[in-house]
Amino acid sequence: MNPSQHLADLAAFVTASPSSYHAAAEVARRLGEAGFTEQREDEPWRAGGAHYLVRDGAVVAWRVPDAGPSGFHIVGAHTDSPGFKLKPDPSAYAYGWSQAAMEVYGGPLLNSWLDREFGLAGRVITRDGAVRLVSTPAWLRIPQIAPHLDRSVNDQLHLDKQVHLKPVFALGAGDILAAVAGLLGIHRDEIDGHDLFSAVTEAPAVIGVAGEFFASARLDNLSSVHAGLAGLLASEPADHIQVLACFDHEEIGSGSRSGAQGPLLETVLRRIAGSLGWDADRYERALARSFVVSADAGHAVHPNYPQLHDPDHRPSLNAGPLLKVNANQRYTSEGPSSALWLQVCRAAGVPTQPFVSNNAVPCGSTIGPLTATRLGITSVDVGIPLLSMHSAREMCGTADPGYLARALAAFYSGTEG
Ligand code: ZN
Repeated sequence: MNPSQHLADLAAFVTASPSSYHAAAEVARRLGEAGFTEQREDEPWRAGGAHYLVRDGAVVAWRVPDAGPSGFHIVGAHTDSPGFKLKPDPSAYAYGWSQAAMEVYGGPLLNSWLDREFGLAGRVITRDGAVRLVSTPAWLRIPQIAPHLDRSVNDQLHLDKQVHLKPVFALGAGDILAAVAGLLGIHRDEIDGHDLFSAVTEAPAVIGVAGEFFASARLDNLSSVHAGLAGLLASEPADHIQVLACFDHEEIGSGSRSGAQGPLLETVLRRIAGSLGWDADRYERALARSFVVSADAGHAVHPNYPQLHDPDHRPSLNAGPLLKVNANQRYTSEGPSSALWLQVCRAAGVPTQPFVSNNAVPCGSTIGPLTATRLGITSVDVGIPLLSMHSAREMCGTADPGYLARALAAFYSGTEG
């Protein structure tokens, strides 16, 4: 795929993935088209071949080579993005308006959601136990107060999370769940459970006078999920088992059955090992020969706030994915795993740039330390540079998503240069 095709494919992927559940389903759909088959968790494990498993908003895919694999080459990413989640009893009436009660999910850049149309996306569980994915049109908006009514808004914008962030969705006394049910062709009373999140509906766009920027919702971290998937599908067969692990709930700490702190990846690796007839020692030997590339978006230098970066590490857009380093192991990269990353980038002909935090600015984290702590596999943290991380609409360079996919393909293929 050339860079513009790759970017168009990323745009299509983000658009098809308004929630973590949709992202997992879209990864599964694309894997199915490529010949991977579904492994259900409650069914006997399939030995060999290429399969995937979906658990809620997470998906794990793997491909086992024909001849005795040595270990695992794993790419990890996350499917969720910060925003708002619909409360259990969400419809409220105030002064002639219908509003949706929503909880803050993770750490969104709150002001970026003001005056921006969005829909609801996620899953609904009906009385018969069926799980239905649903994505609405742009029904909601959190209107900002006009400066005429609050002269301070341009100097100090204060947003009370309970009071000021309720989106409007109708005039009069409306019922947002009845509207969702209507989209699904069912009655409101048939909905027994729901996990519905805010989802920006505006299409991604290439911008800038030279077309160097890509603006889109959910780049953190669908840019990595998409690159991992593209890398897996473009990779050559290798002597290791190729694994793509896309977890949910990273934005809220990963502590769930579909998050990176849960047993999902370990369960899949153990069941693959079991299907190959490996004993416990053979499994541990395989882990010792394995690698994890934890891919998550990072920060490009912001021209209005350059002092927040380390002066000697100021990543720019379209200069390749970041190699993320942190002495306190908020990122997993160490000497050997950083060297492996440079080798795969060389083999792929892809630039890469180191990222390390300014000592006075707290560092974020990723799923990398969680999987490394659980499995003890050598790991490295990477990801494309963004501006406006956790905004409703983030921005990256047009070249970096393709660079990341090519590097991950080389990692899966085991071609170190
Ligand atoms: Zn992230």
